[in-house]
Amino acid sequence: MISEQIKQLDSHYIAQTYGRFDLVLSHGNGCEVWDSEGNKYLDFTSGIGTNSLGWGDTQWVAAVAQQAAKLQHCSNLFYSEPAAQLAEKLAKASGLKRAFFCNSGAEANEGAIKTARKYSADKYGANRSTIITLENSFHGRTLSTLAATGQAVFHQHFSPFTTGFEHLPPNDLAVLTARLADNDVCAVMLEIVQGEGGVNSLTQAYLQGVQALCHRQDVLLIIDEVQTGIGRTGSLFAYQQFNLTPDIVTLAKGLGGGLPIGAFLLGEKCQDTLGKGDHGSTYGGNPVCCAAANVVLDRLDAAFLNEVQQKSAWLRSRLAALPKVKSVSGLGLMIGVEFEAGIDAQQIVAEGIQHGLLMLTAKQKLRLLPPLTISQSALEQGIAILANILISKSF
Ligand SMILES: *Cc1c(COP(=O)(O)O)cnc(C)c1O
Repeated sequence: MISEQIKQLDSHYIAQTYGRFDLVLSHGNGCEVWDSEGNKYLDFTSGIGTNSLGWGDTQWVAAVAQQAAKLQHCSNLFYSEPAAQLAEKLAKASGLKRAFFCNSGAEANEGAIKTARKYSADKYGANRSTIITLENSFHGRTLSTLAATGQAVFHQHFSPFTTGFEHLPPNDLAVLTARLADNDVCAVMLEIVQGEGGVNSLTQAYLQGVQALCHRQDVLLIIDEVQTGIGRTGSLFAYQQFNLTPDIVTLAKGLGGGLPIGAFLLGEKCQDTLGKGDHGSTYGGNPVCCAAANVVLDRLDAAFLNEVQQKSAWLRSRLAALPKVKSVSGLGLMIGVEFEAGIDAQQIVAEGIQHGLLMLTAKQKLRLLPPLTISQSALEQGIAILANILISKSF
């Protein structure tokens, strides 16, 4: 089918909830992807940070195909090897104790919220169920995770939302300290780098301060690593760069390397909070998705992560030196680019497609999430295309 036919089917038969780029993708290899007409694009999006190992990684494809042929799904009424192995890897890598597997980031955060509320209710009784999140955060699209999301734009049309969420300003410890005085808060949930909110990092001082406050008052610290996790920021989990010991960590995007899997990891305090019957998900721990995630985790060793850091340093310095760039934010290969006034990031992305480079936006910024496996020559190629666009006369 050619692109025009596919777009027409989409417009007739798919709920029109997405503002899509004007591009139908057909197949990919490494950090390159082709459209239905055979045009090639360099990919700085990774399916929004999901294809950690790029497109069609041989080892990943083999593991997925083998697992699909062997046992594609068996439900959580039975034990299966891929999920058990994956949970062990995640526990050993994170220092947390147990994993619950689900299918998406929003679901992972829902599970974290349920765990925090039950932990508090078990120990302290009712009226200690408030969850603090940050302004400008993004935690998902279900009613509860939308309520957790600290952006007014998401709080239209769908009320009533789940109650018990409050949004405080990021990097403001005094406000959090004052709010926790009431003893009605069971958890603080935050992203180390706010992704959808514009690729903004929290400060080390703030994160340490939040953790100290949480520990003092037995408030659970939930880190939403749905976007920052699984090597994206140059360490397996972003919190590891800030010396944190969270009580719950949520994962999704990059975990399956392009298959839908989410997880929440439970630390010592709350590893047994959820008991039999308290939570579940039909597809949670699906063997094919877990086999895919096992390959991703096996590949992300210290040498791999070190390369991510080096690529990040190179890319960030080149981006900062481009014309019309005001600032570069983010961590690892999760990068935001702020332009000088008059440059519209959306327009840069559209121009990128014309010139064979796929990029994203976050708020007013350009957002880059290249595959973690991207080669140096592909990075150079991408920077050259972006430089050309920025230098061109159209701005
Ligand atoms: C993408 C994202 C989510 C939501 O993940 P879904 O898989 O789309 O439900 C939650 N939190 C953060 C930080 C994200 O970036």
